Amino acid sequence: MHWSPNVLPAVEILSNPVDALKGLLLHVTDILMPQDCFVCGSVAGGAAVCAPCRSELIRHADRACPVCALPTVDGRTCGHCLRQPPAFDATWAVFDYAFPVDAMLHALKYRHHLALADFFAHELSELAAEARLRADVILPMPLHPRRLAERGFNQAVEIARPLARANAWPLELAAIRRVRNTVAQAALDREARLHNPRGAFEGVQPLTGLRVVVVDDVMTTGATLNELARTLKRQGAAWVGNLVIARTPVPD
Ligand SMILES: [Zn+2]
Ligand SMILES: [Zn+2]
Repeated sequence: MHWSPNVLPAVEILSNPVDALKGLLLHVTDILMPQDCFVCGSVAGGAAVCAPCRSELIRHADRACPVCALPTVDGRTCGHCLRQPPAFDATWAVFDYAFPVDAMLHALKYRHHLALADFFAHELSELAAEARLRADVILPMPLHPRRLAERGFNQAVEIARPLARANAWPLELAAIRRVRNTVAQAALDREARLHNPRGAFEGVQPLTGLRVVVVDDVMTTGATLNELARTLKRQGAAWVGNLVIARTPVPD
């Protein structure tokens, strides 16, 4: 239960100020460090998700295309990537985009459930270690300034920050800007505009010869990640890998 100012009667503070203060601090600690499991609501000992619920989350397929992470029978490069290689070189996904991971990502994005960012960062860190990932910089998927102003934060940055810190990887927040290609976009109808990421990014700083690891929450068609990778390569990046929390099983 969360404390709010109007449930703590003033008389209680006056009659037993020490206990009232202790209670207040406990409540504040609860708010700052939620201890209830996001999935089942049981006490999770400071983690955002308890161990049993964590073990039941649907992990992304072991056998997947190394380029786009789409599940393949033998773990080899998929037909899409063979026919039309994307601008990125590799992709790893922790989970399938399914319940309750979808609800967790939604809560992080729209309800500022920031404890989940740490949880996801930890999962990405484990995946990166398994993959023996080498990174020169970590670059969270940039958010358009207008979106950032509406939402107040970029969930990809919140996930990337603890990941970068834990692995001593530099976090790159300024090299690429999300822009809108207004001329080209205006000619498209709404549906096409939403799915057309062409010209969505602008290179601001060079990334010459660097191995860039992009962090994003969900990968569906991979079109936006592809466009970002294209921009990164134009800025001189030697290699681009995607680390995503969840992958939709089949592209839309
Ligand atoms: Zn649980
Ligand atoms: Zn592929």
